[in-house]
Amino acid sequence: MSAKRQSGGAGGRRAGRSPGATETAASTPMLRQYKEIKARYPGHVLFYRMGDFYEMFYEDARMAHEALGLAITSRGQQGGEDVPLAGFPYHALEAQLARMVRAGFRVAICEQVEDPKKARGLVRRDVVEVVTAGTNFTQSVTGSSANNFLAALLRRGPGFACAWADVTTGEFRAGEFAERDLRLLLSSIEAAEILVPRSQEQDLAPLCGGAVRTRLEDWFFDPENCRRDLLAHFGTTSLKGFGIEDLHGAQACAGALLSYARENLQQDLEHISGIRRYDISENLLLDPATRRNLELVRSLAGDGGPTLLSIMDHTVTPMGRRLMTTWMWTVPGRPGEIRARLDAVEELLRPGLREDLARQLSGVGDLERMVARLAADKANARDLRNLAAALEVLPGLRLALEDCASSRLRELRDELDPLPEALALVDQSIVENPPLQTGGGGMIRDGVNSELDELREIIASGRDWLRRFEQREREAAGIQNLKVKFNKVFGYHIEISKSNLDKVPQRYMRRQTLVNAERFITDELKGYEEKVLGAEERIENLELEIFRSVVERLRPHFQALQTDARKLGELDLMASLAECAGRYGYCKPVMVEEGEFHLKAARHPVVERVLPPGETFVPNDVVLSGEREQLLLITGPNMAGKSTYLRMVGLITLMAHMGSFVPAEQATIPLRDQIFTRVGASDNLARGESTFLVEMNEAAFILNNATPRSLVLLDEIGRGTSTFDGLSLAWAITEYLHNHPESRALTLFATHYHELVNLEHSLVRLRNYNIVVRRYGDRMVFTRQVEPGGCSHSYGIDVARMAGLPRPVLDRARQVLHQLESQEYTSDLTPRLQSLPAAAEPRVNEQLLLFSAPDQDLREQLRQADVDRMTPLQAMELLIELKRQLD
Ligand code: ADP
Ligand code: MG
Repeated sequence: MSAKRQSGGAGGRRAGRSPGATETAASTPMLRQYKEIKARYPGHVLFYRMGDFYEMFYEDARMAHEALGLAITSRGQQGGEDVPLAGFPYHALEAQLARMVRAGFRVAICEQVEDPKKARGLVRRDVVEVVTAGTNFTQSVTGSSANNFLAALLRRGPGFACAWADVTTGEFRAGEFAERDLRLLLSSIEAAEILVPRSQEQDLAPLCGGAVRTRLEDWFFDPENCRRDLLAHFGTTSLKGFGIEDLHGAQACAGALLSYARENLQQDLEHISGIRRYDISENLLLDPATRRNLELVRSLAGDGGPTLLSIMDHTVTPMGRRLMTTWMWTVPGRPGEIRARLDAVEELLRPGLREDLARQLSGVGDLERMVARLAADKANARDLRNLAAALEVLPGLRLALEDCASSRLRELRDELDPLPEALALVDQSIVENPPLQTGGGGMIRDGVNSELDELREIIASGRDWLRRFEQREREAAGIQNLKVKFNKVFGYHIEISKSNLDKVPQRYMRRQTLVNAERFITDELKGYEEKVLGAEERIENLELEIFRSVVERLRPHFQALQTDARKLGELDLMASLAECAGRYGYCKPVMVEEGEFHLKAARHPVVERVLPPGETFVPNDVVLSGEREQLLLITGPNMAGKSTYLRMVGLITLMAHMGSFVPAEQATIPLRDQIFTRVGASDNLARGESTFLVEMNEAAFILNNATPRSLVLLDEIGRGTSTFDGLSLAWAITEYLHNHPESRALTLFATHYHELVNLEHSLVRLRNYNIVVRRYGDRMVFTRQVEPGGCSHSYGIDVARMAGLPRPVLDRARQVLHQLESQEYTSDLTPRLQSLPAAAEPRVNEQLLLFSAPDQDLREQLRQADVDRMTPLQAMELLIELKRQLD
């Protein structure tokens, strides 16, 4: 915990619920102090430290009651009124903070900032930290490998500026965006908290989604001040190196964010040692719907089922895992970078190399957050030890990468700095297994400080003395089981069981009565205690001083440590990609700036891993090109494999952009700016949002945002409404994606509306494909093979038969279907159908009149043919006969 905090008696005999008599209840001077401090933090819940407790008063007590379920008591009165109060013991701080912040509160932690023992009257107190959703160092954040972002937002003219940072890792980015891109970005960052200037709060609120929105005074965003502040913070004379020199809006957001975080955490945030521009055009971006539909990090059912991440993630460091998760929504997409990553992965496939790297990397831990904790004065000695352990790994890693040819691996090797000075400093001062608590001593090695060594000597010899004292007392009193013990409240004492109480010497002074024993002290023991406790206290203070000086001396290395952490993450990610490529037999994709998208014998990376035993994944080819095969229309019955085929294309595209090998025999992939997906209503019922409106929202988003460099996956459009509506919309959407030059994305469209196959006649860049299904008598067999050509049949009734629907229902359905398909309907359907089952009745229908008499004849013969019972020979004969009649 913060260096500024005084434990207020967290250890030793100094403990007690309240340190001073003046503070046993909500006394007037104390409440005055409370109110003064509280007034400086309006809109915050104040955790007010009293001895070993944090207390909340008045309104805060009620909020804590609601958020944390704490009981409200009333201790003391003010002006004749009860003062409501709620509290919890100091050691529960982490847990209660995490809960409070999760419930959307901002918490100001008010500590005793002077030693209560030395305080005259009221203990001085002050707020040492403000914990909010975006400035949160509790274990609930730092213990998870996920990022926790704080963002700042500003409207500037027609556009927007945005900066975001994870203060627990030091990641810091900023950029300026059009509204559409900003929306996309914000929904992807999933910031925990968003800062907005007061004058724009109304305007920006709708963009903030579920994040905690924090309003700051406008001057926080003053461009001049912010720029100056950033230069001072980074110690540079311009912001050119960060790519935001001319982005005044981005600077304002970055500056506001930095001041806010610094003020909350009351730290300099040295670990935020740089900022990187985020340029949307240099990244492949995946919107939230796409991430959800492709099941990248979470399964659609939300049941912890397999996801792309769960298949691909073989990282062994939290930095690597965070990077991989980040790349599941934004992948740095410059072609050169991607190719360099692919080459690196290829080289890491060399036998033994990636195993070696993984083994070494697994000792690194969360170096990125260790540095952040150090910089924020929140580190303990164990963090230092972990840091040393991480640094110890670096020389070995560099050696393993010694003769690599890949440019990216060589860069990584050269950028890894083992920082021998920092390592030696920690190694020589901190013991190997230090305690988690910083205040209690036991952190510093012998030989570091001579005073410390002497004090430890006193304690050690004291232990001998205690043994002798115990022995002496036993003999003198004639009590064999007399014991000298220590506890925090009563200090050193002699414990004597009830049965021996009659032998207790006169000079013993009673201290406490237990069920089976009594506790005593003697003058001699008290003298010893004073000496030893004095030494212990001095040791604790001295150790703390040395610990802090070690942290101070590490400070100049923070930036290099941060860089190491990031490079380790990237190396870990590369090794993980190689692991996947090797383990699952992937191929190296060829990334092209534009041109044909081509996959040979491709597999769905997740489905192929989770098929039941005995089943194998049937690979398929994919060809897409802006000029010829821009739009693939995939038809086939339910369960044929349409969705799997579509998602496979999306996942492989994403993987290739990451620099991963892909599950295919060959792959050529043109760079994409975005992947869009839309998954039909029936396919995401789990979200409970199967409404037609949601479906259309997503479709509108795609049509308005797709570019010729996008990949669009439409899985069943229009299912959420009536057949005719749905079909018409699907029809029009397909035409739009084909004809509208700005939206001419590479598109795969899976549909059970086999009527859409007719679009092939009018849309030159549309190709029909279907997933072949064979019928053997009553049985349908899914081949999972994608072939050119449309599917003329939706097989719905066949699937129904497989499901065991009664025969009469199936027959009747077939009849109705037939009538619908032969267009024997009016637009409102009913009258015509009501006339059934008079199949033999003469039909007088405008549409039927369009058919000539011979056509009618042919149709009738076809209708009567019982195809299910025919032998192939009979079928052939019928076909020949029909053809003869036609000619
Ligand atoms: P559709 O979208 O056509 O209704 P899905 O894509 O949901 O069908 O596929 C149904 C099931 O078929 C999947 O859950 C998967 O187990 C299996 N499947 C799909 N494609 C393949 C394939 N190429 N090889 C093997 N099994 C497949
Ligand atoms: Mg489907």
